[in-house]
Amino acid sequence: MTMTQELGAENREPESRTPTMKAVAVHPGQPNSIHLRDVPMPSHHDIPGGRGVLVRVLRVGVDGTDKEINAAEYGMAPPGDDYLILGHESFGVVEAVASGVTELAPGDYVVASVRRPGSSIYDAIGLQDMTTDDTYFERGINLRHGFLAEYYADSAEYLVKLPRELRSAGVLMEPTSVAEKAIGQAFEIQRRLRVWQPKRALVLGTGTLGLLASMILRLRGLDVVAMGRTARPYLNADLLDEIGAKYLSTADVSIAQASETHGPFDLILEGTGYSPLVFEAMAALGKNGVLVLVSVTGGDRHVEVPADRINQGFVLGNKVVVGSVNASRADFVTGVADLAQAELSHPGWLGKLLTHPVKGLESYRTLLDTLTMGKNAITVYCEIADLDAR
Ligand code: BGC
Ligand code: ZN
Repeated sequence: MTMTQELGAENREPESRTPTMKAVAVHPGQPNSIHLRDVPMPSHHDIPGGRGVLVRVLRVGVDGTDKEINAAEYGMAPPGDDYLILGHESFGVVEAVASGVTELAPGDYVVASVRRPGSSIYDAIGLQDMTTDDTYFERGINLRHGFLAEYYADSAEYLVKLPRELRSAGVLMEPTSVAEKAIGQAFEIQRRLRVWQPKRALVLGTGTLGLLASMILRLRGLDVVAMGRTARPYLNADLLDEIGAKYLSTADVSIAQASETHGPFDLILEGTGYSPLVFEAMAALGKNGVLVLVSVTGGDRHVEVPADRINQGFVLGNKVVVGSVNASRADFVTGVADLAQAELSHPGWLGKLLTHPVKGLESYRTLLDTLTMGKNAITVYCEIADLDAR
């Protein structure tokens, strides 16, 4: 409860009333507690160092993480609050800046990164996505309020500017940053080989992240095979066709068969959320290849695997498996350029990912229901204000 909610209307002086705004929140730990509430209006003056930026939120995407948070499987409220404002895939327009901000001005379109620094050395150099702390701070996910509200305030250092031309795809920026980090890590790791010309990639999972990763890999010149559970006709498969990637359904072919026919794979990205596939992917990885894991799997699944065979393949084939979470500022910046390149080489393709807009914060129920049950849903997002609102 905020002060304004607790005070009876008769006790309230209009002058002393804390300004509030609407936000969609949950009570972490309480399943299905999603609700709309009045929360204190943030201000750029609340941010230390004169680096504050007030952002009017335009759109916020939702994904499996939001589903898990509402199911109380994940997420914590900021200290002192019993609620967590949801939303980590943000897109907005700058409303006001504090005196120390010169790189952004009112009217600029921005996306916010998600993770905020903790105490490890990585956090201290702006790589909180690489933190070694046990606790991490993520806006809209863990210990920090998110963006599913009318406004948010943050330091300019966590905001990345998007050109006006990309505003309709702005809400795809955060998932793009996650894909950029994963792929960037693979390329960085492969410098160990001195010489590497990756030809074939396999992407497991064909939701927003898998589609964006397939696009980025195509932009890097790789042949891409993407696998998902759904059999054609499948919109996501059509979208993969459009960018020259090949879609295969796991209903028809196994990962091993896909690698026989279309491999060997130099790079595999696993993002299905179904951890047993990790070991199938390990077995299917090509020599000198790299497998990147990006699914946050909160369960406790156990499987039996051909351990000797997988181990021997890794040793004799000099293979790598690496985990990747979140994204650094640099990954967001690379993402902006790649979204621009994607728009240039496949005009309109990014827009086709935005299948399910849900208008208004008050439609939070529909937002979550669409995420869980939406037919042909790729990206589900809340339209909080018009893209040209300012
Ligand atoms: C977000 C990441 C975050 C991860 C783990 C994902 O849904 O996109 O930014 O680091 O969840 O909490
Ligand atoms: Zn996410």
